[in-house]
Amino acid sequence: MGRPPRLLDKPMFVGHYSDMYEFAVAPAVQSIRRRGVEIGEVSPDSLGSDLELESGDRIIKVNGRVVRDYLDFRFQTAGETELVLEVRKRTGEDWELQIERGEGEDFGLSFEQIVPRQCANECIFCFCNGNPADARPSLFIKDEDVRLSFLYGNYTTLTSISEDEMQRIVEQGLSPQYVSIHATDLAVRAYLLGVDEHRADIAPKLTRLLDAGIEIHAQVVLCPGINDGEILRQTISDLASEYPRITSVAIVPLGLTRYNTDPRLTAVTPDFCRQIIAEVSAIQRDLRQRLGTTFAFLGDEIYLRAGGAVPARTHYGNYPQIEDGIGMVRSFIHEFAALMRRLERRPLDEPGKINGTILTGMLFAPVFRTLIEKMNFRCGTRLNVEGVENNYFGGDVSVAGLLTGGDLVAARARVCGDFAIIPKSTLKSDEEIMLDGMKLGELSQSFGLPVYPMDVKSFSKFLLGQN
Ligand code: SF4
Repeated sequence: MGRPPRLLDKPMFVGHYSDMYEFAVAPAVQSIRRRGVEIGEVSPDSLGSDLELESGDRIIKVNGRVVRDYLDFRFQTAGETELVLEVRKRTGEDWELQIERGEGEDFGLSFEQIVPRQCANECIFCFCNGNPADARPSLFIKDEDVRLSFLYGNYTTLTSISEDEMQRIVEQGLSPQYVSIHATDLAVRAYLLGVDEHRADIAPKLTRLLDAGIEIHAQVVLCPGINDGEILRQTISDLASEYPRITSVAIVPLGLTRYNTDPRLTAVTPDFCRQIIAEVSAIQRDLRQRLGTTFAFLGDEIYLRAGGAVPARTHYGNYPQIEDGIGMVRSFIHEFAALMRRLERRPLDEPGKINGTILTGMLFAPVFRTLIEKMNFRCGTRLNVEGVENNYFGGDVSVAGLLTGGDLVAARARVCGDFAIIPKSTLKSDEEIMLDGMKLGELSQSFGLPVYPMDVKSFSKFLLGQN
């Protein structure tokens, strides 16, 4: 018997993938079918306001080409000084605007959010299976959208991508793309994604994107007993053989909540993490010698669970997978050291008044506590760090960003001082609301103290602003 087929082999089958999956890719909401892109806001004194464009108007075409979303608008207007816009006013009127604009002149328009396309997979580790039944509907959205991959670093599997989307990535240069590979062994990839091998085989798509100069970052969700060991070694080796076209691979551990009881899945333990670190460190050393980059990065969680230190700054290069949380702890420590240097150069006027509690996830709490204790000792602040259990999701979920209002309220007895600081990542990016629907104001009320959501930058500002 020959070796099993792998992802970066030459295409295994004849036929066109695009006609196979389009049926399965359902728009998240009906609004995706509306023509054009809706204008959200128009800046005063901008070209948009001179053209009498208004919130609620839809731009249907630019120079005769259909506009599907704001990426299309951006692409089709880029570098053009003479434009014809077809607009459907919110009143229902149709306008045609002939425009001449200065080079680089901005329209001053903001647009509606992109409605994500959804995936057609049944991944055995899908986070949607780990949500409590009453979780916010948005937590059940299985987004799989190459536009969001380009814009925000969201991972896609490419199994359900349409020909139209493939063309768009290439034509509009939506690079980089973030692709969940999980395993280059096709049978294992198919098993993990819950699809057949035919569907799991994205080799022709990957080749086409790479040949078109699209940069790819890969991801492996590491599931003990399934894609570790020899499968992982092979996956890293196959992906590294495409370096620098494939720029990096993030290896992140499976996360199980108490609701995900699939018997095929085995929890990630500290022993497993130590073993993976030992195995992958040897591969990383070899890759650094051959490629000049670590290339295959382990998630921070793996180092923290193993009870060891995260790698040094140089390990991460330019942090190619920071959007996936890889290197966040090292980056945090680095920024914290810069803050300490500033505080030592310019000591706080009344450090004893900085008296409060920082709440964070269980995994990060020991690292943060060590840093804060050093700060208290050197600068005279009176801060306290408390790790908060995640009872909402349960299982081995211990990262700060998944803490809910209820979890934080349950830690109230351990909050001391004049204020509490919570991770900014527990809030929605555009609203002060947590995963369980609790609002920041409600948490503050329940604590009877001001509660400040912060990241390291706002924490620095907060401290330096005390002088
Ligand atoms: S690709 Fe897999 S993990 Fe991601 S949303 Fe779809 S089923 Fe879930």
